[in-house]
Amino acid sequence: MTRKKLSIIGSVAFDTVETCHGRRKNVLGGSATFASLGASFFSPVNLISVVGADFPEKHFKMFERLNIDTAGLEKKKGRTFRWAARYDPDLLHRKTLSVNLNVFDGFRPEIPETVRPSDNLLLANIDPELQDWIFRRVDPSGLVACDTMNIWIENKKKHLLKLLKKIDILLLNDEEARQLSGEKNLLEAAKFISSAGVRMIVIKKGEHGALFFSRGLSFIVPAYLLENVTDPTGAGDTFAGAMMGYLTMKNRNSETNLRRSLVYGTILASFTVEKFSIDGLVGTTKGRLEKRVKHFEKLTRY
Ligand code: AMP
Repeated sequence: MTRKKLSIIGSVAFDTVETCHGRRKNVLGGSATFASLGASFFSPVNLISVVGADFPEKHFKMFERLNIDTAGLEKKKGRTFRWAARYDPDLLHRKTLSVNLNVFDGFRPEIPETVRPSDNLLLANIDPELQDWIFRRVDPSGLVACDTMNIWIENKKKHLLKLLKKIDILLLNDEEARQLSGEKNLLEAAKFISSAGVRMIVIKKGEHGALFFSRGLSFIVPAYLLENVTDPTGAGDTFAGAMMGYLTMKNRNSETNLRRSLVYGTILASFTVEKFSIDGLVGTTKGRLEKRVKHFEKLTRY
């Protein structure tokens, strides 16, 4: 039997990020970048996205080295997607300074043959219209998760609600859950979202961890306590990628696997926020990951 893979569609970007620890200009980022790197600790990945002619070969090579197939990472004439943000000193809130879609404008990817309907699919944060387009093209029979953000709830709510009827897991942060549902209380928000048709909901609460809701299981995971947070960019995407990568590796969505997938998502996100861009994530090893998971277990057992 061929090993199950995880296909990921989302943004590959150049980010300019400012936090109280410094500024980085045009560093590698994007929802699909962080998600693919997070997932690659557990399962092979098909990355589906687009970059411009300014995107260096060394990043393609890095993805390939980490078992992230780039057959679906199209290189087009033009500039790579760009995003700039500045974080408040508390590192909890950020202001988006600019978004330049560039090659993403109207992008509809070729789906490579390496993407099989039976594989799992992560629709990482990107325009829900494009997420839905991919869904229809791939016609997946595996597990499907979708991540989103405030601007899509604001501007493409109808498309997002349509997509929710087809997918298995929705990931979003607490503010977005409130925004999507119109409910202040997160339990009520989860109920509303589940009535929209999605089976499982993960509400990410940044430094306060994550909540999981499904009909049969509710579960809470605290965040891993860190001494140094440098740049929170990509934490949510890393979480989503790691969670789906773990479930892809296990190939069975049992209660234990679901619980553990949230823990692995949490721990890998903790590596992301320690450094700028992808440095914390690519700088870690499976050994360091497992060590942190063990420590997390000690911190949370009672
Ligand atoms: P997160 O911190 O998990 O919300 O993810 C931040 C990453 O998402 C950055 O690397 C950005 O390049 C990417 N990003 C920001 N805005 C968008 C957008 N509108 N569509 C797709 N990706 C985005």
